[in-house]
Amino acid sequence: MAWISGFRKHLNVKSMLKLAKSRFDKIKSPVQPRKFTLTNYLMSALALFKLKYESLLKFDQDTRQNDTIRANMEQLFGVLKVPCDTAMRKVLDLLDPAQLRPVFKALLAFVQRAKILEAYRYINGAYLISIDGTEMFHSESVQCDNCCQSKHGNGKVSFAHKLLAAVIVHPAQKQVIPLAPEPIQQQDGTNKNDCELNAIKRLIADLRREHPHMKIIVLLDGLYAAGPVIELLRDYNMEYIIVAKRKKLTKLFEKLDASSQVKLHVIIDKQNIRHEFRYLEDVSLNDSWNYLKVNLIEYREVDETGKVRYYNCWITALSVTPDTLERLMRAGRARWKVENETFNTLKNQGYHLEHNYGHGHKHLTTVLAMVMFLAFLIDQIELRCCKVFQAALAQAKKPSYLRIRIRSLFTENIIPNWQSLYDRIALGNNATPVCIPDTS
Ligand SMILES: [Zn+2]
Repeated sequence: MAWISGFRKHLNVKSMLKLAKSRFDKIKSPVQPRKFTLTNYLMSALALFKLKYESLLKFDQDTRQNDTIRANMEQLFGVLKVPCDTAMRKVLDLLDPAQLRPVFKALLAFVQRAKILEAYRYINGAYLISIDGTEMFHSESVQCDNCCQSKHGNGKVSFAHKLLAAVIVHPAQKQVIPLAPEPIQQQDGTNKNDCELNAIKRLIADLRREHPHMKIIVLLDGLYAAGPVIELLRDYNMEYIIVAKRKKLTKLFEKLDASSQVKLHVIIDKQNIRHEFRYLEDVSLNDSWNYLKVNLIEYREVDETGKVRYYNCWITALSVTPDTLERLMRAGRARWKVENETFNTLKNQGYHLEHNYGHGHKHLTTVLAMVMFLAFLIDQIELRCCKVFQAALAQAKKPSYLRIRIRSLFTENIIPNWQSLYDRIALGNNATPVCIPDTS
């Protein structure tokens, strides 16, 4: 009989759920608590996403009909009674999503205290925060007070919910650390540019308010290569590396092609890959924002046969020298992690971000998406730090197999604690149920 050591004393799923629960307790409920507290609803929603349920209805059916699941909900999530799906939709619909932001902040501070974030520091000790928008709901018939509306050429109107995600990334780190996302609201405008530009103003202000001393380099796509965004980032004392598109920054690229000030730099790495840079320092962004000076980097990755494998351009105010170019390029390329490691995972790797768990009349879609991001944050930290979780994953071979194993054990066996759950997967029948002292 055995168990795996290394279920870290503080930073494990149990301690993170306990912290989330204590922060949920501080949120003022939008309704008079009757049978259930708001924490009960929020922890149930967190369990829904932690267990990767594909629908709220299925979660409701399981928790209603199965004593084992009810016992496990209490043991692992601290939920004594799970509210029904209708009540969950009704109550969470009324909750202002901004109320969930402090939960993200508390979890990040927890992770920071455990020194996990140190590995994410990059240029000058700053964190790279990749920001991008995504749509999580789209319909031509279902709508609510906060749906973004789009009028199409054929006269049809469609409704959508979108959000801006912000995740800490690092070129050499597989996991991303999600921060609180910002909903894109109906009043933000009717076209994509306006919507995302208005939402980013709130996101940047919130980020700075919540993390006043954090050194931040924001990574953005070409949509944001605009004067108002750069000015906003300067106002909030944030650096940036933003994708630069020829079509959008025509004048800047004309200078790159014509100026005698353009500098060249080439690095040939151990794999014989050529990294070619052309760069221009201290040039005006465009005529309208003449006083905003940026550095423009053009980059090509060329393989041994001379084929260009990757091409991109960025603007930044960070110092561009032969010594910094490669790190700036790697940071710029890490922007992609918000799409690949975040949106793709949340849409296709068990989380069902685009599934309609319930729409409601006000905030339900956004509140559920934010709780899903919280579950994703906890999962990412587990994946990075928890040896017992890692052993379970190694035994299961694939994340999708691990999800199936967790769900099947959760629904069919009484599980005394998280370590026992992961031990059972990692060690099979040799696992000994362990008693974990509550040290958090
Ligand atoms: Zn809506």
